[in-house]
Amino acid sequence: MTTIKATCPGCGEVDLSAEDILLRIGGLATSNSYGFSCPECGDFVEKPADDRIVRLLLSGGVMPMLLNIPAEALEPKQGPPIDYDDLLAFHEVLKGDDWLAQLIGPPAQ
Ligand SMILES: [Zn+2]
Repeated sequence: MTTIKATCPGCGEVDLSAEDILLRIGGLATSNSYGFSCPECGDFVEKPADDRIVRLLLSGGVMPMLLNIPAEALEPKQGPPIDYDDLLAFHEVLKGDDWLAQLIGPPAQ
């Protein structure tokens, strides 16, 4: 069985087996992570996993867990995040009777 070395912030380097490691693969390379329960202190340690680490863990026999990322999360975003003022303005618009027309604008010509 392959021994995989990982680092616990409290205990330093620890030896793990492939079954000890939870490898999460997301829709973006930046959302990949791995985690394990430290065999020394019992803490759950979680770290980001770049492509190199993902390849190493897979070659060591770690079974990846594929996360279901909604397509909306991967869409490019423009403008600032929605804030409380936006929510209040939206609430005010919904009080009226013509909120749909206000939101979608005039019909296209
Ligand atoms: Zn530890």
